[in-house]
Amino acid sequence: MAITASTEEQQLLLDVQAVDTKILQAGHKRNNVPEIATVQELEVALGSLDMKIVAVSTEVSDLSVVQEKAEADVEVVRSRAARDKERLDGGSITNSKELESLQSEIESLSRRQATLEDEELEVMQQLESAQNALDAFNTEREPLAAALEAAIASRDSQIAECNAEIDKLTAQRNDMVSDLPSDLVKLYDKVRDDLGGVGAALLTRGACQGCRIALDSSEIQRIRNLGADVVVRCEECQRILVRTAESGL
Ligand SMILES: [Zn+2]
Repeated sequence: MAITASTEEQQLLLDVQAVDTKILQAGHKRNNVPEIATVQELEVALGSLDMKIVAVSTEVSDLSVVQEKAEADVEVVRSRAARDKERLDGGSITNSKELESLQSEIESLSRRQATLEDEELEVMQQLESAQNALDAFNTEREPLAAALEAAIASRDSQIAECNAEIDKLTAQRNDMVSDLPSDLVKLYDKVRDDLGGVGAALLTRGACQGCRIALDSSEIQRIRNLGADVVVRCEECQRILVRTAESGL
């Protein structure tokens, strides 16, 4: 059975369609806030930088342990040599063999100390360069983290703005729809779901504004002969075709 609705109700359906189109546009705008992509890019960049920071932090901490160990090794040899030197200078050892052995130990300790100090120096240089790399990464991180924070704030506020707009429009649309016959609304919602968001279109200058296809003359003639309250559908796209004074019938 054909659905019927008064001319005013059919006109109101076009107004509902206009609001529904705005809701779709606000949803599209919300899903395409540029900062959504910016946040993703910055998160990737920050994630990769954080991995570098973790790696170089581990290196700094490992090298610090090695450096402390090297320093302790040098200290052991240094104090042993100092003790030997004290004994030698003290004059308490008179036995020439003992003196010779002590002097030889001091010389050997001195060579050992030089080697250990070279090793310590090398570790210190490695540590310094790792520390510099870590400092550079941390310096690089600061503006990146700030940019991410700003992008998130901007993204969220724009999304919230779109959501508020959608809520407002949805309330408006529900209010309008409550004045319409339920079978008309049901048909409209179904067609709208099936056809990309447009369920009702104006018939103007002999063409459906939903699919932009001109109706042939016999179809126009048929519509002309229908009662004003008969709900017409476009033969081409199946949308509800609303007739108004602009329809040129
Ligand atoms: Zn159409």
